[in-house]
Amino acid sequence: MPSTELGTHALEAAPDDPMLPRPFRVVARHQDTADTATLDLEPVDGPGLIFTPGQFTMLGRLGVGEVPISISGDPAAPPLRHTIRDLGGVTHMLVQARVGDVLEVRGPYGTGWEVADGAGGDVLVVTGGIGLAPLRPALLQLVAQRDRYRNVTLLYGARSPADQLYPDELKQWAARGIEVHTIVDHGTADWRGRVGLVTSLIPRANVDPTQTLALLCGPEVMMRMVTNALLDVGVDPGRVRWSMERNMKCGVGLCGHCQLRDLFLCVDGPVLDYPVLAPLIATREL
Ligand SMILES: Cc1cc2nc3c(=O)[nH]c(=O)nc-3n(C[C@H](O)[C@H](O)[C@H](O)COP(=O)(O)OP(=O)(O)OC[C@H]3O[C@@H](n4cnc5c(N)ncnc54)[C@H](O)[C@@H]3O)c2cc1C
Repeated sequence: MPSTELGTHALEAAPDDPMLPRPFRVVARHQDTADTATLDLEPVDGPGLIFTPGQFTMLGRLGVGEVPISISGDPAAPPLRHTIRDLGGVTHMLVQARVGDVLEVRGPYGTGWEVADGAGGDVLVVTGGIGLAPLRPALLQLVAQRDRYRNVTLLYGARSPADQLYPDELKQWAARGIEVHTIVDHGTADWRGRVGLVTSLIPRANVDPTQTLALLCGPEVMMRMVTNALLDVGVDPGRVRWSMERNMKCGVGLCGHCQLRDLFLCVDGPVLDYPVLAPLIATREL
């Protein structure tokens, strides 16, 4: 093949390169809590992203850096949405982004929640803090197809009432057949809800343990405690799924940054069945 043709092919192949970032413009921004904001993004050109609930993108800006952020938007409708908590350098830049700013997006990457596996039975979603964001697309799917499931329950813990994400949507989901129970670590004078750990809500979940698919996202210690409580009441470990949000860099299983023994969490995860994780989660992150 003449070298000019090779060059043409290389250029043509470039847009499909999973490592190639694409520019997306911020078209809407919402300040969710003191340290968390939601950004809606549209591609500067070309098609939008098609994703599965649970997947993430590498989101950032040239010259600043990029970080893995789960897609929190509706899989059935654009724009591409991310909810970001300001933790460090890159997330600070993202939370500060304004409408009209252009960010770089790679992906979508990783495995999904595969909510449909719960059809015909009960689905129990347990999450804490920013962990509700990666589960929002799955909850929207459950709301849209509510009649395919028996009971759908969301147990959501936040640090304080002001730290609760999507408070209006929590009410809308409850009105559309999702049983929603919330709890906070620290109440306020006007808080009339529950105070304590999200695990204390588990007995309130109206589910048949033998027919339950459980979806968990939050701090690992929370997911361990919730899993132990679910296994104690007879939930099948193979129907407990975690989103493992450990540090990642390339997103495509090349760099080894997120390697856990023989798993690359960016491609084999982030959503994994508990029996796959159980022998590995004692491993400390490097
Ligand atoms: C698959 C996946 C999905 C994610 N989805 C979201 C999301 O939807 N919204 C969101 O706000 N964040 C999400 N995160 C976490 C986000 O990627 C980190 O907060 C970000 O990488 C921090 O980078 P930084 O440069 O802002 O801060 P850094 O300076 O790199 O880190 C600031 C502090 O945060 C800690 N930290 C860094 N990464 C993580 C992590 N993954 N988990 C816990 N602590 C961490 C660091 O140890 C340090 O103490 C996700 C992570 C993964 C792996």
